[in-house]
Amino acid sequence: MTLDADFETLSLDTERPFTIARGTTETVEYPLVRISDGEGNEGIGGAAPARHYGETAETVAAVLPDLLDAVAEVGDPHALARIERRLAEVVQRNPAARGAVSVALHDLAAKRAGLPLYRLWGLDPDRAPETSYTVGLDDVETMANHAREAVDRGFSTLKVKLGTDRDREIVRTIRSAAPDAALRVDANEAWSRAEAVRMAEFLADFGVELLEQPVPADEPDALRRVYEASPLPIAADESCIRLPDVPAVADRADVIVIKLSKCASLREARRMIHAAEANGLDAMLGCMVEANPSIAAMAHLAPLATYADLDGSLLLDDDPFDGVPMPDGEIDLAALDSPGTGVRER
Ligand SMILES: [Mg+2]
Repeated sequence: MTLDADFETLSLDTERPFTIARGTTETVEYPLVRISDGEGNEGIGGAAPARHYGETAETVAAVLPDLLDAVAEVGDPHALARIERRLAEVVQRNPAARGAVSVALHDLAAKRAGLPLYRLWGLDPDRAPETSYTVGLDDVETMANHAREAVDRGFSTLKVKLGTDRDREIVRTIRSAAPDAALRVDANEAWSRAEAVRMAEFLADFGVELLEQPVPADEPDALRRVYEASPLPIAADESCIRLPDVPAVADRADVIVIKLSKCASLREARRMIHAAEANGLDAMLGCMVEANPSIAAMAHLAPLATYADLDGSLLLDDDPFDGVPMPDGEIDLAALDSPGTGVRER
C-alpha cells in the first residue's frame, strides 16, 4: 500500500490570553499531519509542541519529513507498533512531532476498520470521566468571572492555575464564585517545598480535590516530602514525562498526568496508563492548548483514565476542527457517528 503524507502548521489564537506560572500563550502553532491510504481514507493528526519539553513548530517541521518517510517505508497503517518503533529510531525525543504522526495513523487505521478508535480498542464509552475546564492566571476578579462562566457553561470541575503572590486570594475568590464546582489546582512547579506543604493544607480546607505539580520537576525529593505531608492527592505532570517516569514517581505522587506532547504516541500513553495502574497511581489525561485532532485522539483513551483535563480545544478562539463532543464537560464517545477519532473540518 502507498501511504501519502503531508503536513502544515496552523496558527491558532486562544480565546483569551492563557497564562500559567511559566508564561502566557496567545497563539498556538499547531502542526497538522494528514496520511492517506490511496483508497479514499485519510487520517488526521496533530500535536502541540511544548517549548518546556524542547519543541517548537520549527523543530517539528524540521523532523516531520523524515518521520513521514519512515511511515511510507513501512507502508501499512495497521503496523502501528512497527511504525512507532521506527519513528523513535528516526528521532529520539520530539514527542509532538511523533505524536502528530501517531494520531494520524490511529485515525487512519480506525477509519479503515470502519470503527471509532475507542471501539477498535474495545473500550467502554460509559467509563470516560468528565473533563475539567482550566482557569488560567489573571487578576483575581477576572479569574472568578471565568470560573463563573465555566460553571454556567455546564462544567462541574475546574482546574485553577496558581503560582503567584496572590494564590490564597485566588482560591478564596474562586471558591465563593463557584461554590459547587470540584476544584483542582495546578502550580506548574512554582512553589518551594515548604510553601507547597502550607498550600496543600490551605487548599484542603477549601475542598480542593487535587494538587498538581506543586514543586519543580528537578526537585524529586521535594515532591516526595510534599506528597508525604499533603492531605490532598498530588499529581505529577512535569515530573512524569515518559513511561520510565511512572514507577519513579510512585512514591511521590498519587496521580500521573499523561500528555501526547510529552509521551509521543497513543501507544505510549496507553502503556503509561497501565503502568500507573500497576504502581497504584491514578491516570489523568492532559493536554496543552491545542486543537481537536490531538484532543479527540486522547479522548478515546478516556475510559481507561480516572481524570481528564482535555479542554485544549475549548481554550481556542476558533478550532478549525470538530472532535469528540464534550457537552457540559462530559466526554461523549458514544455520540460519535463516524469512524476514526471523529475529527472533521468545521
Ligand atoms: Mg499541569
